[in-house]
Amino acid sequence: MDGMTHARTEAWDSRRFFAERISGLKREGRYRVFADLERLAGRFPLAVWHRGGERREIVVWCSNDYLGMGQHPAVLAAMHAAIDRSGAGAGGTRNISGTSHYHVLLERELADLHRTEAALLFGSGWTANMTALSTLGRALPDCVIFSDAKNHNSMIEGIVHSKAEKRVFRHNDVGHLEELLGACDPRRAKLVAFESVYSMDGDIAPIAAICDVAERHGAMTFLDEVHAVGMYGLRGGGVAEREGLGHRLTVIQGTLAKAFGVVGGYIAGSADLCDFVRSFGTGFIFSSAMPPAVAAAALASVRHLKRHHELRIRHQERAATLKRRFTEIGVRVMPSESHIVPVFVGDPVLCKRASDELLERHGVYVQPINYPTVDRGTERLRFTPTPLHSDEHVEALVAAMRDVWSRLGLTAMAA
Ligand SMILES: *Cc1c(COP(=O)(O)O)cnc(C)c1O
Repeated sequence: MDGMTHARTEAWDSRRFFAERISGLKREGRYRVFADLERLAGRFPLAVWHRGGERREIVVWCSNDYLGMGQHPAVLAAMHAAIDRSGAGAGGTRNISGTSHYHVLLERELADLHRTEAALLFGSGWTANMTALSTLGRALPDCVIFSDAKNHNSMIEGIVHSKAEKRVFRHNDVGHLEELLGACDPRRAKLVAFESVYSMDGDIAPIAAICDVAERHGAMTFLDEVHAVGMYGLRGGGVAEREGLGHRLTVIQGTLAKAFGVVGGYIAGSADLCDFVRSFGTGFIFSSAMPPAVAAAALASVRHLKRHHELRIRHQERAATLKRRFTEIGVRVMPSESHIVPVFVGDPVLCKRASDELLERHGVYVQPINYPTVDRGTERLRFTPTPLHSDEHVEALVAAMRDVWSRLGLTAMAA
């Protein structure tokens, strides 16, 4: 009897476990609340916000649909046509009946975009990083992977999963990378994994210098251009294209879900490397192909952005304008060399409150960015102006920020 009572009181309570973890997140102010949105095709950046039974029109200021391509008529037309022609799903993995002609055309288009021999599609950018890095790190002989300290979760997971030895170099610190590479046995396989545009800070990697160091030590390079494809370079090939460095990278990885406005991910590189990941990458082999209509939409988007550099110019101008206007009203913009406009708050509860007040009082939607996406104490609002945000949208946002920043006592002291 005694034993039974004991067992009952000590038994692990799964319900309590989850409830306590969730209330812990709430106490810390980093419980995630998703805004329930209805995007309105043709009216970007406007959307309808659903709360309770209410609907309210708001302006989206934090979308990764950086150029509004998710609603572009050419993309929608391609998607409609492909649905009518080929139906909803792909019907299988790429190997077993799931490869449609749209997939083939899209892989060719992406290889052309990056001027590589080949490209390989995945269900998402996350899966592309996870699968490519875990497959390479596991297969290369006695491999060491050198990883930037601010790399995205998808690369970290891929590296961990590969079970290769991992050395982390300080963010964008080429000297530190060189030191780590120099300390490594020259006979071992090496791979340097990094990003071009870091999406939470908006800074850009010294790609040429990283390639120099990697080449000196015989290391492969793996560059995540997720926040740059479509947006940098004369054809939207990313920062590597802008800087004429595409040919020096072993692998360029990208997404079809951000500037291209659809969904899916890819790697681009040599024919043999893509063939290798195609043949050994489990996240590629054992997952169904993306729907043909998704591939068709992405294809139209990539093609459109190759030919429309003026969108990239307008995008950069909008970002520069927003940074300037915020600075003028005493809002602290974190240093960013890209289209990302991060605004420092430095506290998770205040950050959430600022976001709530902007939405509720002003119809401005910008999601708070808290730990673990960024370090504690660097909580921020991350604005992503697009070519479709007008001067009126910008001025309404500036007025809203002026109000909320003074309410919350966040305005910087005049210098
Ligand atoms: C969003 C993101 C990914 C993942 O891409 P998805 O297509 O959204 O899965 C990979 N790397 C970075 C740096 C990202 O920000």
